[in-house]
Amino acid sequence: MKAQITQPITSQKVAVIGAGVSGLVVARELRQEGHHVIVFEQNNKIGGTWVYNPNTDSDLLSLDPSRTIVHTSLYESLRTNLPREALGFRAYPFIAKEEDKHRDPRRFPGHREVLHYLEDFVSEFGLSELIRFETEVVHVEFMEQRKCAVRSRTKDGNVDNEVFNAVVVCNGHHTVPNVAEVPCIDVWPGKQVHSHNYRVPGPFREKVVVVIGGAFSAFDISREIAGVAKEVHVASRSITNANPTKQLGYDNMWLHSMVRYKFDFPFLDKGVVTVDDNRVGMLYQHIFPPKFAPWLSFVGLTWKFSTFPLYEVQSKWVAGILSGRISLPTQDEMIKDVEAFYLKFEADGIPKRYTHNIWDYQFKYYDWLAAQCQIPPIEEWRSQMYAANGMNRNVRPEAYRDEWEDQNLILQAHDDFLQPLD
Ligand code: FAD
Repeated sequence: MKAQITQPITSQKVAVIGAGVSGLVVARELRQEGHHVIVFEQNNKIGGTWVYNPNTDSDLLSLDPSRTIVHTSLYESLRTNLPREALGFRAYPFIAKEEDKHRDPRRFPGHREVLHYLEDFVSEFGLSELIRFETEVVHVEFMEQRKCAVRSRTKDGNVDNEVFNAVVVCNGHHTVPNVAEVPCIDVWPGKQVHSHNYRVPGPFREKVVVVIGGAFSAFDISREIAGVAKEVHVASRSITNANPTKQLGYDNMWLHSMVRYKFDFPFLDKGVVTVDDNRVGMLYQHIFPPKFAPWLSFVGLTWKFSTFPLYEVQSKWVAGILSGRISLPTQDEMIKDVEAFYLKFEADGIPKRYTHNIWDYQFKYYDWLAAQCQIPPIEEWRSQMYAANGMNRNVRPEAYRDEWEDQNLILQAHDDFLQPLD
């Protein structure tokens, strides 16, 4: 469907829930489009996931509903899984600040550098004046078209109700863990920890450890723990070999076949969206629930992509639709589109929990959104760098962050950075 100019551009009053990567880029794009924006952030700083906290949830499996909750899942040693050129926003490239000795100039920097980058982004675009810190959104009510009541509570208990034209949900999905179902785990005497609560390898010294999961965190954490543990056993659905195999390069790590985070919107009434086996439904293009579009949207639900540029284009789309510069299909058309998408999942036998995993069509999805927003498609160097990095990670799992062979792509990236997107 082609983007069309449908009506005069109008400015809306928009509430954004969360000041992590997605909330910040939504705020920037909404304001750029001329909307009036307020960002609610329960923490006392920006960055969401990227604000490292050595503390963990009080329940290390994060199952106890009365536990104290720590938002971030970062571990102390975390470095990005993408090179900074591919990771950063298109409007604000993530360039190393070699001259500042407090910064981490590595191509795959540690997590603190990402937080510094986000702080620079906020300062560059003057976003901090839009953010209400230590203010949690506790309820959102849709009263009538273009009117949503947002109830928020400050840290000292003050409750406020304010009416907005639209709400963009950017509350992240790395805080409520989806604990794997392991037969007889309840009678196993060992200690259990979800990776959301992993910080440092020390507590695993000389232990026999089972790591369940095969994604980026399990990849890094299992290697870090193998440095101190007696044995590490990685159990992952993606490992299909029935017999345990030794991890190449390790004497104490084995791979086993078998057995993530949940979407959670405690501030939305039941029925606004459903979460079924981690499918948030129904959402047109992973963003708009047809019944509430365009006044409710979700940015940042998709996973397995370089998150920053994708959230950026998702935000542009939402901002353009809210102003009337870009049009959405009718409600019926959106519903039909989502139903067809779900049918394909069923026909292919793919479980619902993979609904927002866009790995197989990430660039097509990006380019579709870019076309709607009338901006250029994903840069050729970025998609190539993404692929080259994936291959490098497979070939050099221990060293891919420090050894690479994509110098020509780095040069192309820096050439592009001279003219960032608006
Ligand atoms: P979050 O960062 O979770 O931010 C959500 C914000 O919403 C938080 O600040 C939270 O306090 C706030 N909030 C939540 N509920 C409320 C409420 N009710 N009221 C007010 N505020 C609220 N991506 C990459 O591209 N490269 C990487 O190398 C990479 N590494 C990662 C490593 C780990 C361990 C994890 C968990 C993720 C990693 N990611 C990586 C993905 C990462 O999640 C995204 O980069 C990004 O941080 C997600 O941003 P977000 O804004 O959607 O969510």
